[in-house]
Amino acid sequence: MIDLQNRTAVLATMHQKEQAIAPILQQELNLNVLVPNDFNTDVFGTFTRDIKRPADQIETAKLKIHKALELTGETIGIASEGSFYPYPSFPLISCDREIIVLIDLENNLELIAEVVSTDTNHSYQSISNVEQAIEFASKIGFPEHALIVSEKQNPTPEDKFFKGITTIEQLSDHVQYLLSLSSKGIVHLETDMRAMFNPTRMKIIEQATYELVKKFKNKCPNCSYPGFDVMKRKSGLLCSLCHLPTSMIKAEISQCQNCNYSEEKLFPNGITTADPTYCNYCNP
Ligand SMILES: [Zn+2]
Ligand SMILES: [Zn+2]
Repeated sequence: MIDLQNRTAVLATMHQKEQAIAPILQQELNLNVLVPNDFNTDVFGTFTRDIKRPADQIETAKLKIHKALELTGETIGIASEGSFYPYPSFPLISCDREIIVLIDLENNLELIAEVVSTDTNHSYQSISNVEQAIEFASKIGFPEHALIVSEKQNPTPEDKFFKGITTIEQLSDHVQYLLSLSSKGIVHLETDMRAMFNPTRMKIIEQATYELVKKFKNKCPNCSYPGFDVMKRKSGLLCSLCHLPTSMIKAEISQCQNCNYSEEKLFPNGITTADPTYCNYCNP
């Protein structure tokens, strides 16, 4: 039986994500969270894009965890990663995809949880005067949510930018300064998405942490290993009219990472036939 009780997990962050993550893991799993001193996560990529992520979200989180485990000698590591992009079915709205990964070396356990939410203030704009900057600030929840002002939309480490702006005075000073350097009279403004500067994002990290707890508590019916979860979805739900298979989901297969025991659940969405609208034969 795998237990995390009274053990210590190292959280690879320098953006105070422990505020969202630690109380939940303490309360739900009795797991203590420690943040290493001077752990620089910027080498693993920044939201200002001056330093690129070395890999995708999940792989980057794993790299951070292994670095933090190496530094501290602990055996449980946690990292979270966020990314912001246009919501697929509603491209005018931004969404926040937060993933959180837990690795326990002692038990050879790896859990990954994810939340995608449209609850985000992620936004950017090019501006040419201070009034526009203040108007933008008023729409994104400033000053509780901070801003970034930069010389270029996609800065390199040599370009000038200011992060973590939380007062109107700083904002107008930095905008005026960068405007004075710009040959086109334009500067770039965007929301600062680092967790400690973005309470809305901090809430989504909280939700992802609850997802992680839920995954941990989902035990394999065969060996009790945590993280028994849907690994595959099978399409082929039959059309209610012509009874041919459609691309809609017919079954979900959950599998254990430890003993490979698997279970197939038919009709996971609670419907046993597909509407002919989704049928290639009835509605080509
Ligand atoms: Zn199992
Ligand atoms: Zn049909």
